[in-house]
Amino acid sequence: MIGWDTNLDRVLGGKTAKALGSSFGMSTVGDLLRHYPRRYAERGELTAIGGLEIGEHATVLARVERVGKRKMRSRRGTILQARITDGARSMSCTFFNQAWRERELLPGRRGMFAGKVTAYRGELQLAHPEYQLFTEEGETDAHDAAREFAAALIPVYPAAQGVPSWSLARCVTQVLDGWQGVEDPLPESLRERVGVLELNQALRWIHRPEGTDQVEAARRRLKWDEALGVQLSLAQSRSRQDARPAPSCPRHDRGLGADFDARLPFALTSGQAEIGERIAEDLSARHPMNRLVQGEVGSGKTVVALRAMLQVIDSGGQAAMLAPTEVLAAQHARSLREMLGELARAGEFDSPEHATRVALLTGSLPAAQRKQALLDAASGAAGIVVGTHALLQDQVSFAGLGLVVVDEQHRFGVEQRDALRGRAGEDTCPHLLVMTATPIPRTVAMTVFGDLRTSALRELPRGRSPISTTVVPSAEKPAWLDRVWQRVGEEVARGHQVYVVCPRVGDENGSRCHEDELAEGDSEDDPGPAGPDDEGGNNARRAPVAVLELAERLRGGPLRDLRVGVLHGRLSSDEKDSAMRRFAAGELDVLVATTVIEVGVDVPNASMMVIMDADRFGMSQLHQLRGRVGRGSAPGLCLLVTESVPQTAARARLDAVASTTDGFELARLDLLQRREGDVLGEAQSGRRSALRMLSLVHDERIIAEARNEAEAVVGQDPELRSHPGLAAMIDELVADQRADFLEKA
Ligand code: ADP
Ligand code: MG
Repeated sequence: MIGWDTNLDRVLGGKTAKALGSSFGMSTVGDLLRHYPRRYAERGELTAIGGLEIGEHATVLARVERVGKRKMRSRRGTILQARITDGARSMSCTFFNQAWRERELLPGRRGMFAGKVTAYRGELQLAHPEYQLFTEEGETDAHDAAREFAAALIPVYPAAQGVPSWSLARCVTQVLDGWQGVEDPLPESLRERVGVLELNQALRWIHRPEGTDQVEAARRRLKWDEALGVQLSLAQSRSRQDARPAPSCPRHDRGLGADFDARLPFALTSGQAEIGERIAEDLSARHPMNRLVQGEVGSGKTVVALRAMLQVIDSGGQAAMLAPTEVLAAQHARSLREMLGELARAGEFDSPEHATRVALLTGSLPAAQRKQALLDAASGAAGIVVGTHALLQDQVSFAGLGLVVVDEQHRFGVEQRDALRGRAGEDTCPHLLVMTATPIPRTVAMTVFGDLRTSALRELPRGRSPISTTVVPSAEKPAWLDRVWQRVGEEVARGHQVYVVCPRVGDENGSRCHEDELAEGDSEDDPGPAGPDDEGGNNARRAPVAVLELAERLRGGPLRDLRVGVLHGRLSSDEKDSAMRRFAAGELDVLVATTVIEVGVDVPNASMMVIMDADRFGMSQLHQLRGRVGRGSAPGLCLLVTESVPQTAARARLDAVASTTDGFELARLDLLQRREGDVLGEAQSGRRSALRMLSLVHDERIIAEARNEAEAVVGQDPELRSHPGLAAMIDELVADQRADFLEKA
C-alpha cells in the first residue's frame, strides 16, 4: 500500500528513487506529489523556440524538421544532427555516435526534447537532449512510455539533467495508480465554507488533469493549503507572543516623555498622535508589543519611535535602536541626541534630573569609546543604545532591555525577529517596534510580516515640499545631460546641496569591478544586465555609471567650481561618517554616492538628486532615494537619467516613478514586476520553499481569507489540539523551512 510517507524506492525502485533524491531532494511519495507541474502543454502545441534562454534546462515541444549526419573529423564516430522547429524558428539537437536515432527522428514527428539550451555559432541548440516522441493520431503504439501523452493536457514538470519531465510524469502515474490517498487535513466544514476540493482529488487533478478547469480547481485547493499553513503558523506565533511576559511600561505624566512632548518644536501630525496612542497602550501591557510602523520617507517615524523609547525609559527600562548600516546608526545617534537636547545629557552639570544618555555602539568604534558605551549599556546609564544588528549578536549586556526599535529594515526577516525576541532572557521579552519606509503591499504585510501588527503613517508633516521628478533620456537627448550638471550648479548657487546617485562604486585603478558593496548589502535591487527589461537582447551593456569615475569627471569638468564628495560602501565607517557629516554641515555641495544614502539620511538643505542609470534601480528604491530631497523648505527636484529606450518596460517603470509620489502605488507596481522569489528573497523570509503554488502577487484574496480562518481557529484552540490535521500542516511547513535553511547554510 502506498501512503504519503512511503519511501520512493519501494514504489519506483532504487535507481529511480536515487535519481529523484539527488536531483530534487525527494525521498517520499509525498515529496513527489508535492512536485507540481510548472505548466501544461496542450496536445499539438509547440514551444516558442525564440523564448528559450541560454543556460536554462528546457522542455521543448517541437516537430522534427530534418536530420543529417556526418563523420567527426578529429575522432572516429558520427554526429547526428536533428533540426527541430516550432513552425517559425528552429534549433538543432546534436547526438554523438547515435546514428540509429535517425530511424525514429523522422521529419514531421512531434515530441518533447529536454536538455540544456546552449548557443553554438549564433544558433540555439540542445546538446544530446533526451526526447520522447508522441504517438501520432490514429497510430497505435504499444510503447508504454507514450501513455502519458494520451491526455489532452501534458504536464510539464520542473526537470533536471537526467530526469526529464516525462520521467517525472511516469513516476507520478505509477504512484497514483497504487495510491490509497491521505486523510484530508482540512475539516470538511472548512472545505465547504471556502469552496475547495478534497486533497486527494486536488492532487490527482494537478498531476493528471483532463481539462483546464480541473487544473484551476486543483490549484486553488493547493494554494489554500499553503496560505493556511503559513497563516496558522503566524497566528500561533502571535498568540504565543501575546502569552509571553514583558515589562509593563505605562505612560507617566512626569518624566522624559512628558518633557520631550513639551519641548517639541512642532505639533504631531494626527497619524503620529494616533499611532503614538496605540504604541503607548501596547507598551503598558504585560505582554510584548510587536508592531510594524510603515510610513513614507519623511513621515516622521523617528519621532514616533523616540516617544516610545522615552516611555520605556520612564519606567526604568532601556531601548535599543538598530539600523542596517553603521552610517545610519551614527546618524540616528546624532539626531536622537539633537532632538533630546539636554534631556540626553545625563551626568553633565546642567542637565535635568531625569535626563538620560544615548550611546552609540558599533564595531568600528575606538576601544575606549566602545568600552564606555558597553559600560553605559550594562549599567543602564544609557537609556538608548544605538547600533547595527550586531548589537544584539554581540555580548552586549543591558541593565534592562525593554524595547527594541528596528529602523528602516528591509533585510530583517521573521527568523531574526524571533531571535531578537528570545534575546532578553528567559523571563521577559522586550517590546518590538519595527519601522519601514518601504510601503509594503498587503499580501507581503500579511505573509512576510504576519507576526507583526501593522500601522501606517500616511500623511506627511505639513511644510514638506513637493518633489518633482523628471526622466532625462540621455541616449536620445545627450544635450540634456549637460543641462543636468548646469542645473546642479544653479541649485548650489541658491545655497542648496545635491546628491548624485550611481549604481556602482567603481575602482580607483579604473579597472572594472562589479562586486560592489554587496557585503554592505546596499547595492541590492539592481535588476542587472539579465533583467527582463533587457530588450533587444544586447547582453554587452556598458558597465553602470560608477561613483569614483563620475566624481572624478565632475570635479575636473562641469562641477569644477563646486565641492564634490563621495560616499559608498567601500569606505571605512569613519570615512563614511565623516563624508556624511561634512555634507550635513554644508561643507560639501555635491555628494556622489551609491545607495548607501538610501535609507534614513536626513539633510534638509539637500534639494536635488540626480540618479544615474536610473533604470538599474527598482521603483520602490527610486522612490525611497528621492525621499532624501525636499525635506527642507525648498521644493525637491529629482532627475532620473537613463539610456533606456522609450516604450521598453524599463522606461515605463521610470515614467511611473516620475508620474506619482504615492509610495504604496509604486510598491504595488513594483511587486507586479517582480518574480515571486525576489519578493520573498528581498524580505529574507525563509518561506520561499513553502510557497510552491501561492503567489503574493496574485493571491491576495486567498491569503486574506486564510488569515481570517487561521485567526479564528487559533483563537479557540491555540495549540490546535482538536485539529491534528492542521497541526500537521504546520509541521510540514516548518520542515520545509528547515530544509530551506539547511540549503542556505
Ligand atoms: P522618517 O524617519 O519617517 O523618514 P523623520 O522622523 O526623520 O522621518 O522626520 C523627518 C523630518 O520631519 C525630521 O526633520 C523631523 O524633525 C520632522 N518632523 C517629524 N514630525 C514632524 C511634524 N509633526 N511636523 C513637522 N516636522 C516634523
Ligand atoms: Mg527615519
